[in-house]
Formats: sequence, C-alpha cells, structure tokens
Amino acid sequence: MLSKSVVIEPCANSLVWDAHAGVFPDPAVDLNLLDAWPDNGVNYVSINVGFDVMDWQQTMKTLAAYRHWIIENSNRFTLIGSVKDIVAAKHAGKFGVSFDIEGMNALNGDINMIGVYHALGVRQMVFAYNLDNAAAGGCHGIDTGLTDFGQKIIAEMNRTGMIVDCSHAAYKTTMDIMAASQRPVVFSHSNPMQVWGHQRNIRDEQIKACAATNGAIGINGMGIFLGDNVVDNATLLQHITYLAELVGTEHIGLGFDYSPGVDVDIGEILKSRPDYWPSGQGYDTANIKHVAPSQLSDLSNQLQQHGFNDDEIRGIFGENFQRVARACWGE
Ligand SMILES: [Zn+2]
Repeated sequence: MLSKSVVIEPCANSLVWDAHAGVFPDPAVDLNLLDAWPDNGVNYVSINVGFDVMDWQQTMKTLAAYRHWIIENSNRFTLIGSVKDIVAAKHAGKFGVSFDIEGMNALNGDINMIGVYHALGVRQMVFAYNLDNAAAGGCHGIDTGLTDFGQKIIAEMNRTGMIVDCSHAAYKTTMDIMAASQRPVVFSHSNPMQVWGHQRNIRDEQIKACAATNGAIGINGMGIFLGDNVVDNATLLQHITYLAELVGTEHIGLGFDYSPGVDVDIGEILKSRPDYWPSGQGYDTANIKHVAPSQLSDLSNQLQQHGFNDDEIRGIFGENFQRVARACWGE
C-alpha cells in the first residue's frame, strides 16, 4: 500500500492521470522514482520504454526490466491494461503504470510488433520522434507525411487498442494521422504554439483536428516547451486557458514529461544526438526545468481561482484522457 498521498481537490473520487513521463528508457533506471506521482495524488502514469533514438532491442530490454520491477513491487504498483484496472488500483491504494513508445522504429518494419507490445503492456505510441522515419514525419524533420506503412500502423493500432499519439510528429503528418484514425487521437505531451513558439509545439489547426476526433492534448511540463525555461503554474495556466478558449476544456489533459532523477544528465543526453535535438530549439539550455507532480494541488487551486469549475478541473486532471482510453483500449 502507498504510505501517504495528497488528495487533489476536486479529484478525490476521480482519476488523476499523467499521459506521459519522460523517464529515460533504460533497463538500469531505478523505478522507485515513480513514487513522485502517487505521493502527490496522481493515480496513473504512462512511462516510455523506447524512442526512435535507440534500436528496438533496447526497447524490448527496457520493457522486460520495467515489467519485472513493477511485478516485484506489486505491493505499491500495478501494471494496468484498462481504465477498469486503474480504478481498481486506486481503490487498492496502488499506483497504475502502463508503457508508451515514442516512434515507430521500435516496430523494426514489422506491423505485428504492435500486438506484441500491446500484450506486454504498451498502450500508447508516437509515430515519429522528432525526425522522419519509415512511418511518418517528425517535428524537426522535413515532414514526409504519413507513409503507406504508417497508414497500416494506424489500422493495426485501432484494431489492437493502442492510443494513437501525435506528439513529436510534424504538422502534415499529424493531420494525415487524425484523418485516418477511426478512434480518438491524442497529443500526449504537446503545447500550443501560439502561446510559445517552438517546433515541438502544435498549431491551432492541429488542436482543432484533435478535438474533432474527441481526443485530448496533454500539457507538456518541460520548461523549454512552456516558455523560456519556465515551469510555474501561472505559465501552465496560460497554456490551459488558451486551449480552453480554442476547443473547450474537455480536450485538455496533463502529460508532464517529468523525469525525476535524470534531470542532471538531460543536457548531456540532448547534446549527444544533435540530429534528434537540433540547435536553435533550446535543447542546449542550461538546467532545463520540468513541471513536477508536486505542483498539481496548487494548479488545481489556481484553475479554480480563474473560473474553472470542478467538472472542468476533473476533466483536465484525468477524466478527458480516461474518456479517450476507454474509446481506444475498450472498457
Ligand atoms: Zn516525448
């Protein structure tokens, strides 16, 4: 059982949901770092087990290690496959975790890998991580659009119950993806470009197209995507308010991209692959900051003070992504 947990008002009886954490995918990562979420009132997080920067075998090794760790620590953590599992975990005083993969290089060209990853607990996949790949165009690439392989991937994701995630992909590609998917689509961790101009952020047309699928956009907590390396709640409020005015609160969620314990190395990691993290995009900023789950309680208060009602806050803090997950994963 979890030792202590903050209750975020007004979410005592609803799920608090973080659609993506940027825990660096490596079998050696000590997942005790996950305590930061339940200690601050969060019920579920999706953590990444791979991205296009690494080969698919490394993704599989990370998946094996993380699965093992969660099973070993089943007194506190539970691997979840459905919304029902998350509700049950909350009632049992446990924290729910599932996995995501950022980029289709993890398929190694084989569509059947989607079903394999799904069986191992992956519930959300990004198409391209910053650069173009065989499936799609990345936000720092030349935007090749969705390829024939990418089209087949969407059909298989819809069939198996994998959330289609447009974060990290390029504009045209994401519009292709949202037109092709038969189920709601998310940007699990992307901010509006009109609030902060960054290639990783998304245009109004993308936000509207996502809402039209009945999807949701998770606010990214990385300082360089929120503003000039700022992570305060006033800045989060600006991004949330912008989205609310554009498409309504029912399409807003949280995808903080939080990575406790790897912050010290993040500059080195980003510097190591200038192709994936190009210059001029703030990746070389000293001490890149992250929004932490400890800010959530105050964020809820600030939303209240700015006129958001309890239903809207519960939606933003989890019920909107919960709706998308039900539509994609099944009950
Ligand atoms: Zn990411």
